[in-house]
Amino acid sequence: MPYFDHNATTPLTEAARARWLQVQAEAWQNPSSLHRAGAKAKGLLETLREQLAAYLAVAPAELVFTSGATEGVNAIAAHWAHALPPGARILVNPTEHPCVLAACRGWLGDRVEWLPVSTAGVVDVAWVRERLARGDVGAVVVMAANNETGVLQPWAEVARLAGAAGAESLCDASQWLGKLPADGFGQVGWVIASAHKFGGPKAVGFLKRAGSAKAFRGFLGGHQEGDHRAGTEDVAGIAAMLTAFGEAESGQVFLETQRTLWRDAFERTLRARLPGVSVVGAEVDRLWNTVALVLPHGEGHRWVARLDQRGFQVSTGSACASGQKGPSHVLAALGVAPEAAARLVRISAGWSTTEADWLALAEAFVAVAPSLAPDPAVVTL
Ligand code: PLP
Repeated sequence: MPYFDHNATTPLTEAARARWLQVQAEAWQNPSSLHRAGAKAKGLLETLREQLAAYLAVAPAELVFTSGATEGVNAIAAHWAHALPPGARILVNPTEHPCVLAACRGWLGDRVEWLPVSTAGVVDVAWVRERLARGDVGAVVVMAANNETGVLQPWAEVARLAGAAGAESLCDASQWLGKLPADGFGQVGWVIASAHKFGGPKAVGFLKRAGSAKAFRGFLGGHQEGDHRAGTEDVAGIAAMLTAFGEAESGQVFLETQRTLWRDAFERTLRARLPGVSVVGAEVDRLWNTVALVLPHGEGHRWVARLDQRGFQVSTGSACASGQKGPSHVLAALGVAPEAAARLVRISAGWSTTEADWLALAEAFVAVAPSLAPDPAVVTL
């Protein structure tokens, strides 16, 4: 069944599943135990940390294994709440994932300042430069790739500017990693990610700690993760994450060009056969797998249900936000009117998605359109 909801979550890859089972059988002991079996699990954990560090071009000691991006951003925002000077402002991109917005609002309150974005949702780098020059900025938060639209952000440049101005930077790399090459995140102060977005297990992830943040404590408790995050590590989950990550990094992220052509062909077909449809962020660089459509009629959730009946799984926005009432905050930040934003459908392919799957999805959109039109007679097919 063609699954087009990979930005919500991906299936565990075969190799990741095999690795998880193997480590559960062979290195299930507690990595903090002092006996030899515990030391073996600890040794594996540190080897996995080194592998991840090599992919990201960062120092192993900067990596902290977590349960995912939500934990990561909560831990970082809580850390900033006491570690940054009291008057320091936190500049946040308004199209971040709801977990980033909520953690920043919750931990940092009125110290948050929203960054301006273009109508495609791209952060204005010139504005960031000028704002940093005015001073009082403690940190800048800009994601790598947007989960609803796939729009790529100038995250490396923003991190460089923040660093040069003495401010911290946080990049949510959840939707970038596994889809585009991972090197370069060493330039960013803090990075967060989740394994289940790239073929790893759920509730496993990591954060990259800013090297200078020696006192960072994600959770309080034991002394795991170099004292940065208490709690017994899920070595099997982390091993499976690294297997999935390795598969993407060594064999797949280079297939991006071909996949972008399939995505573009899908968009051309829809534009030709579903007049009035628009693609959010069409004019800027986006992930090869993501298309955010504003349909000419019919609320997004009705399209999702109709396409589901035909065997296609898509979504109305981010999985976390789709249970909420009201239109997407991402489209609101882009200046899209609420009644148009209510017609949003997000499509997100995976590495296993074929060209035929894209073509079949386009046909399914065209086929269900009349049943969603206010007056079927006015739809031209
Ligand atoms: N950040 C982005 C961009 C996401 O797409 C998601 C998941 O939808 C998250 C963060 C949260 O990830 P998790 O639920 O694994 O913590």
